[in-house]
Amino acid sequence: MADSCILAPDFWCAKDGVAVMNVVILLGGPGSGKGTIAGRLVAADRTLRHVSSGDLLRDAVKRQTAAGVEADGYMKRGELVPDAIIARMIADLMAGIAGPCTLLLDGFPRTVVQAEILDGTIAGCGASLAAVVLLEVADEILVDRIAGRRACPGCGAGYHVTNIPPRVAGICDACGSALTVRKDDNPETVKNRLAVYQAQTVPLIEFYEARGALRRVPGTGPIDEIVERVRRALS
Ligand code: ADP
Ligand code: ZN
Repeated sequence: MADSCILAPDFWCAKDGVAVMNVVILLGGPGSGKGTIAGRLVAADRTLRHVSSGDLLRDAVKRQTAAGVEADGYMKRGELVPDAIIARMIADLMAGIAGPCTLLLDGFPRTVVQAEILDGTIAGCGASLAAVVLLEVADEILVDRIAGRRACPGCGAGYHVTNIPPRVAGICDACGSALTVRKDDNPETVKNRLAVYQAQTVPLIEFYEARGALRRVPGTGPIDEIVERVRRALS
């Protein structure tokens, strides 16, 4: 198993000689590239599983589940969804995973309370926290990236009008759906999301640094290079 994994063998925690679930957290502001990088890593390594809290929430909103109905307003305003909703969603997901794999958490945890809940969930299912990768990108660049961001409602693929353009403008390369702009990607909401990131998520940097788990990775430059830096940070 570890042979086909981009993570070094000691990133696998062994329990009775058997590799079990491992967790890698991707940390970074809105638009820092967590989803894009996770997508690239997962495509090259089947032992990795990308878990995007934002995607899970958008799916819950689309399906109008109880959690989705409650989350919708917070998301539209660029505020954080209450910790309890998120914690349940992630715990359900982790409980449903069978066999060894490494979870790439993208968008979770986003508050210190969520990080503490995650510690409990990780311990509870015998998993371990392998590393926390911080994608460092300046605010001006984040604003620019989000302004050009496009998403495929069909298959979830992400694009940027100039940085990652589709072959045909406005159309998904993978499935041919018309690309859309996320509801919370308008300038007013983006300002709020950046402020929320500073106030509520940045404290996590110190939280994980204090444990020696934090790996800082410059999140600008060609995507292939960033992916390579993340791989190195995890090996
Ligand atoms: P981005 O990282 O680009 O802001 P996401 O897709 O990760 O976008 O998140 C979109 C929205 O979903 C957030 O603004 C927030 O409302 C909600 N959300 C996602 N993850 C969490 C979380 N862990 N805790 C609270 N709210 C969250
Ligand atoms: Zn698509």
